[in-house]
Amino acid sequence: MAEERKWLCAKCGVELKPRKTIFKYMGRNISHDVPVCPKCGKVFIPRDLAEGRMAEVEEQLEDK
Ligand SMILES: [Zn+2]
Repeated sequence: MAEERKWLCAKCGVELKPRKTIFKYMGRNISHDVPVCPKCGKVFIPRDLAEGRMAEVEEQLEDK
């Protein structure tokens, strides 16, 4: 994953750092790198992840 995007926390104005975060999706616990604000700890879920890529994650799980 060489792709780097800069995300800024709208509240703190600091750069978000990608962090492995576990969240629930469709009754499963999904582990994924999402941008997290190092200052206030807010987790940002990019829209493309929420709308599109989650389907890929789901497919990967279905394989097992
Ligand atoms: Zn913040």
